Amino acid sequence: MKALPREQIIELDKAHVWHPYTAMDEYVAETNPLVIARASGSRLFDADGRAYFDGNSSWWCAALGHNHPRLVRALAAQAERLSHVALAGITHEPVAMLAKQLVKLAPPGLPHVFFSDNGSTSVEVALKMSLQYWVQNGRPERTRFVAFDGAFHGETLGVTALQGVEVFRRPFASVVMECLRVPPASDGYERAFSVLESILQKDADTIAAVVLEPMVQGAAGMRMYDAEFLRRARALTTKHDVFLVLDEVFAGYGRTGPMWASEHAGIAPDLMCTAKGFTGGMMPMAATLATRRIFEGFFGGSERSFFYGHTFTGNPLGAALALEVLKVYEEECVLERAAAKARRIRDAFAEFSSIPGVTTTRSLGMIGALELGGRQGYLERSGLSVYHEALRRGAYLRPLGNVVYIAPPLNIADSDLDELLTIVAESVRAVTTSS
Ligand SMILES: *Cc1c(COP(=O)(O)O)cnc(C)c1O
Repeated sequence: MKALPREQIIELDKAHVWHPYTAMDEYVAETNPLVIARASGSRLFDADGRAYFDGNSSWWCAALGHNHPRLVRALAAQAERLSHVALAGITHEPVAMLAKQLVKLAPPGLPHVFFSDNGSTSVEVALKMSLQYWVQNGRPERTRFVAFDGAFHGETLGVTALQGVEVFRRPFASVVMECLRVPPASDGYERAFSVLESILQKDADTIAAVVLEPMVQGAAGMRMYDAEFLRRARALTTKHDVFLVLDEVFAGYGRTGPMWASEHAGIAPDLMCTAKGFTGGMMPMAATLATRRIFEGFFGGSERSFFYGHTFTGNPLGAALALEVLKVYEEECVLERAAAKARRIRDAFAEFSSIPGVTTTRSLGMIGALELGGRQGYLERSGLSVYHEALRRGAYLRPLGNVVYIAPPLNIADSDLDELLTIVAESVRAVTTSS
């Protein structure tokens, strides 16, 4: 098939495609979008063949880089056998094998896996599981949730209740469930914990679950916090018998170092959500892992079964891919090899703190972030100037407001990582020294 010319693709796009989190009038009037034709490893290639480092693994998904040959083969082989079948009263090998492997790798005490379609639905599943569990196990008044200020857990209306980025929540505030707020643990875990403690002391009887992004609040600006907060939150939720949901959608699959961010604290949640790196970013699929207690809370007849199930639940293509991802992690020693790359990121971002105009830097595992001076917040534009400088130098670095960050594939080549880090430094300098 002959590729359409770039201009024609943009024309069709601007006529019909509604982009996420985008002011479409400005986009149509002003934006000259990248047209990506293909990708390979840690690079995207545009319609003219220009290469760009994928600085954020395509929205934090492509943990093994793009088009990993083993993943491409696994997907193609599964497509030849079985692409889709329902998961009600039917099962298949990829989903059974994947569940077994996931449970083996997961924190202890999470032997049951519920599959869904994306990060948002993996959290939606956790919310509905918690609510239905309490309704049918004698605590129907437990209907509220607790989440961080600045929390991000996805897009569905249920999950929007947890939304802690105020501008994203405001349009829906009048119809979403009630959510109690804890200040970000990145501003000091002791204060965050004492707020959580007083919320549970006062209101545990009406709370279904505490939902947390472990170790790092991604969308809030790569805000990292002390594992001690997670340890204490685990002990406290156990004491009050409130569920702890850990959303590992971004932090899992080695993004923060270990396979699961909860390993920094040596804890296990009652429900764990995973997506993004779960299929190496190649298929939309996710999983929610549950304890035996929660699983058994749905025993006792069809009127007590979990009333949830997407059309593509347990999809064989996604499952075969997710299974191959786990094999690649093991056989290519992805986490072990990423440790040295994470140290490079840590050292580089520590140095970036001396660039004039950079107010603070931080890193954790395969994430490095820096903040530019000036007004904070998502709508702030300084990060966008760095974005344009980086594009000119061959890297895609979409910022979070004034936070410029990288979250590259875990298996990025060392030389590529060094080049990417150089582009970050040059692009930031170009912006901060010109203004
Ligand atoms: C991206 C993300 C989600 C939502 O995942 P989608 O696949 O976009 O629905 C949920 N939680 C966290 C922590 C995320 O980073």
